[in-house]
Amino acid sequence: MKPRSKFERTVTASNERLSTIGSKVVEWAVRKVLSHYAFRTSGHKCTCGDCGEKFDYKGKGKSVRCPHCGHRLQVVDTLVRNKAEAGYFSTLEAIDGLQVQRVFLLKAHYKKGSPMRMYSMEVCRLWLNAQGRIALTSRNRTMGYYRDCFNWASSIELKQICDVHWIISDTYVYPHYAAIPELRRNGMAGRLPDCHPMRFMQSLLSDHRMETMTKAKDCKAVAYFVSHTLELDRCWQSYKVATRHHYRPADYGMWCDTIRLLERCGKDIRSTRYICPVNLKEEHDHWLKKVNAMEEKRRNKEQMEKTKRQEADFYRNKSCYFGIVIRDEDLEISVLDTLEAYRMEGEKMKHCVFRCEYYAKTDSIILSAHDLKGNRIETVEFSTRQGKVIQSRGICNSNTEYHARIVKLVNDNAHRFLEARKSLA
Ligand SMILES: [Zn+2]
Repeated sequence: MKPRSKFERTVTASNERLSTIGSKVVEWAVRKVLSHYAFRTSGHKCTCGDCGEKFDYKGKGKSVRCPHCGHRLQVVDTLVRNKAEAGYFSTLEAIDGLQVQRVFLLKAHYKKGSPMRMYSMEVCRLWLNAQGRIALTSRNRTMGYYRDCFNWASSIELKQICDVHWIISDTYVYPHYAAIPELRRNGMAGRLPDCHPMRFMQSLLSDHRMETMTKAKDCKAVAYFVSHTLELDRCWQSYKVATRHHYRPADYGMWCDTIRLLERCGKDIRSTRYICPVNLKEEHDHWLKKVNAMEEKRRNKEQMEKTKRQEADFYRNKSCYFGIVIRDEDLEISVLDTLEAYRMEGEKMKHCVFRCEYYAKTDSIILSAHDLKGNRIETVEFSTRQGKVIQSRGICNSNTEYHARIVKLVNDNAHRFLEARKSLA
């Protein structure tokens, strides 16, 4: 890709001038990025994956220190003799007034009996100028089963940035980094927040709120809000009030959810009474319950209103069946004769007779079967077209011990519905 702007021309020129990274960086990356294993066979013989020496370890612990090289190792019980691992790491450098994140791939091979072999290769570089513009220089990508396949023979050149570059650059940063003066001015110093380094630097240049949080050393908030900018818009005022009162939530995701719930409940999201809870989880669940109840009420109201509009049809179609009661010595089965009765039946029996608008069906009749004390047992749907019961269900759509008896009783009385229907015609 040819450089088309002044920024891209500077990037191309600076790209040529970067030097190779030092051995200290690679040493750090080996410790940070790779896993370190002790391969243990059934006889408790361990082989250190790092130095290749053997030692005995019978303990139950998952980690052990190699007596030869002194590295802390993760014990794996396996007969495997070879193992490969890979991971990305990056460094931050400043050159010609540009900030660059260099991304490297680190590969390691463990082979029993010999020290670990590893090598690192530079994959791509993400460039950022003081105005927050981003450019990329990278090796060519190749087609492969994995998306992060690169042609190691190609050189690092100006390319279009794509999601693969964003994903692989979301990785460890060597702690001894250099930053351009604009970033340092906006508070970038010391430990970096646990988030995408380039996204962080970009927003630090463009968003004064990031600057405020970074200068306050609130790494947790920065790490969360870098990838949740909409939440930052919503919660910024609350954040300012909370920090003024030295309140720092342990979990920013949950805290922002709570703010949203408070807003839904019409509460003041600048009041420390609401936004600085001692027990965040409890507060969150409390307001969630409130919002759920509100939502439930709203849905019911909406349906009741819709139902009102259907009420006239309901009475025209069903009133001829009202008053029909089918009895035996223990049971009483009666036609539901108001919309409120449908709602109650659905609520008490925890099924969808009301929600699914059975009252609007023109070819069926809904009956409620209860014992002589009035306890609900099952809800029955009788089809006038088929002239028989098509379903009968207990609480939560279960079957009860009376099921067969109820179905038979209603079916035996089918003629009463059909006669009532004739009177309607
Ligand atoms: Zn060792």
